[in-house]
Amino acid sequence: MNDLFNSFMTGPDEQGRFGDFGGRFVSETLMPLILSLEAEYEKAKTDDSFWAEMNDLWTNYVGRPSPLYHCERLTEHLGGAKIYMKRDELNHTGAHKINNVLGQIILARRMGKTRIIAETGAGQHGVATATVCAKFGLKCVVYMGAHDVERQAPNVFRMRLLGAEVIPVTSGRGTLKDAMNDALRDWVTNVRDTFYCIGTVAGPHPYPAMVRDFQSIIGKEVRDQMMLAEGRFPDTLIAAIGGGSNAMGLFFPFLDDKEVNIIGVEAGGKGVNAKMEHCASLTGGRPGVLHGNRTYLLQDDDGQILEGYSISAGLDYPGIGPEHSWLHDIGRAQYVSITDVEALEAFQLCCTLEGIIPALEPSHALAHVMKIAPELPADHIICMNMCGRGDKDIFTVAKALNFEMGEFA
Ligand SMILES: *Cc1c(COP(=O)(O)O)cnc(C)c1O
Repeated sequence: MNDLFNSFMTGPDEQGRFGDFGGRFVSETLMPLILSLEAEYEKAKTDDSFWAEMNDLWTNYVGRPSPLYHCERLTEHLGGAKIYMKRDELNHTGAHKINNVLGQIILARRMGKTRIIAETGAGQHGVATATVCAKFGLKCVVYMGAHDVERQAPNVFRMRLLGAEVIPVTSGRGTLKDAMNDALRDWVTNVRDTFYCIGTVAGPHPYPAMVRDFQSIIGKEVRDQMMLAEGRFPDTLIAAIGGGSNAMGLFFPFLDDKEVNIIGVEAGGKGVNAKMEHCASLTGGRPGVLHGNRTYLLQDDDGQILEGYSISAGLDYPGIGPEHSWLHDIGRAQYVSITDVEALEAFQLCCTLEGIIPALEPSHALAHVMKIAPELPADHIICMNMCGRGDKDIFTVAKALNFEMGEFA
């Protein structure tokens, strides 16, 4: 039963804080932009016509609802808990990112903005943003670390095909963190016509709450679909975490169902060690301020932000959404990490047992499923979020497995 006096679903407060995390650490020049975005979002939230437009596009453009799939062979192979996958990799553009991009771009249109900027790491958020901008005839500029532009050439080409301008960022180390800094700078400079579309539950308030709300369609569908399939909710939810948006989308609608276990899976890279060759912000970081909010971050003893490392480009963000930091500290959700090696093993098992080539990000979630499922009884239901497909990752995986791509590469 929901206990209204002790709900986990009421946050953030007016300052955008989830307990000690989140907030709005921005310059004075950004403040008016953030406030007008917040006002527009507050209006949209209770506006039926906003949600009617979202639902129409989710259905007819994205392909929602995504299926809830019972993994029979995987369940049999692991010999324990009953495993379901939420198939968000079947969305248009191949991941969950578009759920959120649609919401923000409909807001941008309502605010009369004609130029959309975004940051991207692996390129999935950039591709989703370029896609929706093309659909609405909006100018699209994507900031991407120069290092990532090199590593993710196919996604750079996709964005350009879709009509977006991709700006390689050479400041700092040329990664996602630096791309986000440059996007924030662009926003301040081009206030009048520009909307900043953030790709995860990070940034200053209201972004973490707004992105969570748009991604919550994932968990809402799972509630209905699981009721139809099993007549009850799952016992355990599992999702991979980069910034934490697909995970928040699955988790949020279940936060007050206290019998549901919630597990977030961070990228353990080469192991959560002193050399920081991982991206496990909660398991291996500590609180600090980055990109307008207070949260757990990978940092050195002097508070310098570290880049982190993961085989999965979509998980290598040095922070994590502030709501996850709060859920971690109050103990409502559990956070674990999975190494590259474990994720690669899960990737291969998923291909051969289920006929699904997963992205490397949800392969981390699946690897944790593989760890715990065998020890659980057959009536324990696990639902993991298959938040992206693996087409983008085949070259990385081929290299890791020493497979010669030859003329296909
Ligand atoms: C971007 C991405 C992620 C990481 O982002 P979250 O905000 O943590 O969801 C995970 N999986 C896939 C497939 C992605 O494209």
